[in-house]
Amino acid sequence: MFEKQNIQETVNELKSDAVKGLTDGEAFRRLQQNGRNEMKAARKKTKIQLFLEQLKDPLIYILLIAAVVSVFLGELSDAVIIGTVVVVNALVGMLQEGKARKALEALKKLTSPQTIVIREGIRQEIPAAELVTGDLVDLEAGAQVPADIRLTRSSNLQVEESALTGESVPVEKDALFLADCRHEIPLAERVNMVYMSTVVTHGHGEGIVTATGMDTEIGRIASMITDAEEEMTPLQKRLGDMGKLLSILSLGVCAALFLLAVFQHRNIPEMLLVAISLAVAAVPEGLPAVVTICLALSVTRMVKVHTIIRRLPSVETLGAVSVVCSDKTGTLTQNRLTVEKCWWYDVLEDAAGSNGRGESRCVQEMLRGMLLCNDASLQGEQRIGDPTELALLDFGEKMGMHRERLEKQYPRYDEKPFDSDRKMMTTYHRIPKNGGHKGSIAYTKGAPDVIVQHCTHILQDGRSVPMTAGQRKRISEVVELMNSLALRTLAAAQSGNTPGCGEEGMTFLGIVGMRDPARPEAEEAVEIFRRAGVSTVMITGDHVDTAYAIARQLGIAGHRSQCITGEELNHLDDASFARRIRNIRVYARVTPAQKVRIVKGLQQNGEIVAMTGDGVNDAPSLKAADIGVAMGTGVDVAKQAADMILTDDNFATIEKAIEEGRGVYENIRKSVIFLLSSNLGELMTMFAAVALGLASPLKSSHILWINLITDSLPALALGVDKNDGKSLMRCPPRKAAESLFARGGMACTLLYGALITGIGLAAFLVLPCGILAGRGELSWNLSDWVEGLRELLSREKILARSQTYAFTVLGMCQLYHAVGMRDMQKSVFAMRPWDNPLMVLACVIGFALQFAVTEVPFLIEAFGTSHLSGQEWLLLNVLAAFPLLAHELVVMLRK
Ligand code: ATP
Repeated sequence: MFEKQNIQETVNELKSDAVKGLTDGEAFRRLQQNGRNEMKAARKKTKIQLFLEQLKDPLIYILLIAAVVSVFLGELSDAVIIGTVVVVNALVGMLQEGKARKALEALKKLTSPQTIVIREGIRQEIPAAELVTGDLVDLEAGAQVPADIRLTRSSNLQVEESALTGESVPVEKDALFLADCRHEIPLAERVNMVYMSTVVTHGHGEGIVTATGMDTEIGRIASMITDAEEEMTPLQKRLGDMGKLLSILSLGVCAALFLLAVFQHRNIPEMLLVAISLAVAAVPEGLPAVVTICLALSVTRMVKVHTIIRRLPSVETLGAVSVVCSDKTGTLTQNRLTVEKCWWYDVLEDAAGSNGRGESRCVQEMLRGMLLCNDASLQGEQRIGDPTELALLDFGEKMGMHRERLEKQYPRYDEKPFDSDRKMMTTYHRIPKNGGHKGSIAYTKGAPDVIVQHCTHILQDGRSVPMTAGQRKRISEVVELMNSLALRTLAAAQSGNTPGCGEEGMTFLGIVGMRDPARPEAEEAVEIFRRAGVSTVMITGDHVDTAYAIARQLGIAGHRSQCITGEELNHLDDASFARRIRNIRVYARVTPAQKVRIVKGLQQNGEIVAMTGDGVNDAPSLKAADIGVAMGTGVDVAKQAADMILTDDNFATIEKAIEEGRGVYENIRKSVIFLLSSNLGELMTMFAAVALGLASPLKSSHILWINLITDSLPALALGVDKNDGKSLMRCPPRKAAESLFARGGMACTLLYGALITGIGLAAFLVLPCGILAGRGELSWNLSDWVEGLRELLSREKILARSQTYAFTVLGMCQLYHAVGMRDMQKSVFAMRPWDNPLMVLACVIGFALQFAVTEVPFLIEAFGTSHLSGQEWLLLNVLAAFPLLAHELVVMLRK
């Protein structure tokens, strides 16, 4: 209905003020009364629902069948153990999922947008969630509209409303439009309104909030705000597929084991139980959970290093990044600009020394242009706006000129906002005369090389005179000089043109050169990238000389031939561009559209590209890059298009994120290799023994127990391990499509699998072999030997003890194995145990539980184990430690 009211009616109805906005007190009162400007989150799942969800798994169904079979066999203790395994597994899964979910929810809160509001006449930046109806809001290009708003002012305002209407072409908005009261107007035609979640793509506007939170149009469309399903990462998908394949394979092995048992006339129900348990143990069902929690925890860790990951798959991709394309201003530089030099015809001055001459008409006019054609504001401590423009305000203050005062004198009535394509902006002002207004004046500021092309005149001794070729040459010399000093240059011009007339025939006023110091930490990051096989490329809208000066300082480029300008880029066809791209390190004066071409060119060369951006037009290149990186101070549109956000805008943070990405991939790889080699070892121990016609080395309850100890805690501990960042950043990036088993992963899995099989069988057979040896019956004839073993293992007491050995050794050896897996390149003595407290905990719990099942009477009863002597413990420990010994041997051989 507000679309049918004029501005004053809206202001009256919402008891606000179209110039000063609400008072702070009133805003607070309304916030208390109406609540925060937020979408209500979809109903959260209860703990019980989460727990039950864990049970929806075919493996659990198989286990439950196994429990029923046990009851029928009269093996109640087995049924209880299976039941315990199911419950504990579901609990662990539930806790893991809960933790991952919490981490991601906390992240969502971090990315909630800020907005600029005018209260008591003062512009201030507040969280969008604190807006109330009646608030006066400022809207700039790139911002997400924070609530439903009736516009009170608009200039060239365009809004993309696809979130609401599905239409992705931006719509022009006009504060003065008034809808016909007699008819209902569709949303898309309410030109004087803007709606929550839509995006300002162009121009500038102001308006009064008419609805917040669930009362907004988008809030009413409940279906649109329910959370989309979390997408699976490529690694999760690959692991899911691998899990399925492994399930089929291990089910096949278990079926073969069962058939063999039938063939050998064994106890069929018992072997059925063993086969089922083995199938359950062999399938690495813990894998997807481990991967999800590794990624989610890594995302939480990244927040501490100023990185917000918006999409989980990015964590993986980060580890494969081979080129980082960074913009200059604010990312490689500090974005703390100060005007250092200024020039007007024909005086070049150091800004620090500028004083008396500031009164000359030329400099006054140039400054007036720079201050009026400016959207930044200085309000006490609060500095709102673009640092380039803030630097101009600081310079103005120093020269005794204030933007607010000037703005009152020369009120702005229209504008053409800055955009990186045009590289300039213009504002239109009324000129005061004796109380009234006389005519208008336009001020333009922008890149000097662009401005000068639009000028026909120059201000000389206070008068606008036609610009000569010599003067043009002089301007370009001054710009060149300032750029070679690594100064960012900006020129101002003036004209009497009115809004429709374009920016032609202007009078050139002058140039300022601003210093934006390089970030010292960026230089180190560039060097670390170089060692890590990651190239750094600077892509900037700034002048090529300024860009090169900074690039050289940071070690990005060593020679001018590594620089190219946007204009030169336009003249290169795709083939020549592909040839040159390998050598180019600096792209200067590029437009956002060219950034997309650069990303695609690099990707065609097989690179995985991370690209930074902060402006309205950067969204396409951020989307095109493998990792789009938005700046925390960037506009909402860029943030929405990005995969990650740097909250400190700092280039060095990308290095930390890539290190984290590499680390998390390495951890997942370690977990996977660990789980698979352990499972393979268990499976093959059982299979080999049964194939030889021997009794089963493990009971079904033993298998499930080992599964419980190895599948959850140690694998998780490997997943959250702290890596040695330095050594990670000394290797080249991995290929994006690289398999988890590349770089020796497969050999490692098979080798450890075989070793664990050997250890398991050795433990199982050590006792009967000892008896045979004692009797002098150890024969070199294998079949006699096996026959002897078979006979001994058919005696209940010997079998129970042998099974206890195998059970204990297999349980413990996986703990030793996990410790070695922490770092395949490092001796265990060089690892710091407290870097991974979870692994310490996993080992303590694992050993204690393994001890308990052979020493606590009721557990001995339940698991059918026997008590072990100190000597036996020692022997079994030595056997179990073999994977760790193998690890040490491999590390030694590698050196
Ligand atoms: P980067 O892309 O590395 O952030 P940049 O900020 O210099 O570099 P753009 O924002 O595209 O890139 O700016 C290009 C040029 O436009 C600048 O060199 C400067 O001369 C001019 N410029 C920058 N900001 C403004 C502004 N607010 N008003 C007018 N001109 C500007």
